[in-house]
Amino acid sequence: MIQALRGMRDIAGREARIFQMIEEKARYYFELYGYEEIKIPIMEMTELFSRGIGDMSDIVQKEMYTFEDRKGRSITLRPEGTAGVVRYYIEKGLDKNDPVQKLFYTGPMFRYERPQKGRFRQFYQFGVEAFGIESYLLDADTLDMLVAYFTAIGIKNPVVKLNNIGCSQCRPAYNGALKAYLHKHADELCPDCRQRIETNPLRVLDCKNEKCRAVTQLSPDIGDFLCDSCRKYDEELRDILTRRSIPFERDRFLVRGLDYYVRTVFEIHGGEGAQNALMGGGRYDGLVEALGGRPVPGFGFAIGVDRLVALLSDTGLFEKNLSDLFIAWSLTDKVPLLEKSSALRKCGLSVEFLADERSLKNQLKYAHKKGYRFVVLLGDDEAYSEEIHLKKMDSGDEVYVSPIDIREHLI
Ligand code: AMP
Repeated sequence: MIQALRGMRDIAGREARIFQMIEEKARYYFELYGYEEIKIPIMEMTELFSRGIGDMSDIVQKEMYTFEDRKGRSITLRPEGTAGVVRYYIEKGLDKNDPVQKLFYTGPMFRYERPQKGRFRQFYQFGVEAFGIESYLLDADTLDMLVAYFTAIGIKNPVVKLNNIGCSQCRPAYNGALKAYLHKHADELCPDCRQRIETNPLRVLDCKNEKCRAVTQLSPDIGDFLCDSCRKYDEELRDILTRRSIPFERDRFLVRGLDYYVRTVFEIHGGEGAQNALMGGGRYDGLVEALGGRPVPGFGFAIGVDRLVALLSDTGLFEKNLSDLFIAWSLTDKVPLLEKSSALRKCGLSVEFLADERSLKNQLKYAHKKGYRFVVLLGDDEAYSEEIHLKKMDSGDEVYVSPIDIREHLI
């Protein structure tokens, strides 16, 4: 038997229904806040991700699905959406001609991670990217949108975790202080973090290893190093969030760990097991330039769809919606079956029938097993009649009604 690849899964039944609902709502909210959809390719040149996500990041170091195409070019299945959107933005010259853009995407991402609960090698993200605006108001409006969205899809108590990681003015001094502190505690850190001290010290702050967490508890706080303009930005953002009653907590261990991220970084947590982030995002004012465009500010996030689906799946909602009617049929001429179905569907009713020619008794058994409350009986006698022969399953009552009046009987 051929099985799905490790870390890849099928999304079917209840999960697929939840997926559809949260995607529809995401589109609705993103458009409500002025974002427009972009469909980006699933594959890009590998270099886009190594430059866009950072050579030193875990994703680029160990998690990319990279292969050579038939011409020997190095191609990668996208591990995230931002790099592709930025590539589009620069390729179309929008950084020069039309810099303010608000875009969203949805779709699968691929990371060669160790599969575990909630972690897959093909997973799904909804993301937005806003280019050309550098203002705490954009950050606040985006957080407002996210909290409204999570609440609308049924996530209880979404909480924003927020940090300001400074900018090219103030971060170098912080990095210096952090490195000095980490060097002093190097032998207490995990092997990955020991390497990160020089390559990516901020990333040590969000390592999940208990020992590393113990070390970082007493590390220097970025909040003490912010320059005046970052401090002002942070205060204004927090002030407006407080006055808009958007729940947030400062988390100084929250980082994005890449050089081009500046100021605001955030996650939203919620639902059961709230330690897990439902999404992550931040301000990346250096990214467009790092990928060869003008120095245009950017702000964006990605929502992890799989985790949302799992959370909502546990609520027990989203049972399958049956069709409104089941047609049990036995006909010499089959055309009336399609005619009747189509007449009922034109009245807005969903209709199921079994196309194989099994006995009436077996069709009714099927309808009963599925839980249909109403069945249309269609034999040669009813085939050319204007009326519908409707049977109520629990009482056994039968009536003849015209398709336009049928709704009144389906209660
Ligand atoms: P990131 O792009 O790493 O900032 O992740 C954004 C969100 O995507 C996270 O909050 C996770 O919910 C989700 N995510 C990231 N990697 C995976 C994965 N391998 N499987 C499932 N969800 C993921």
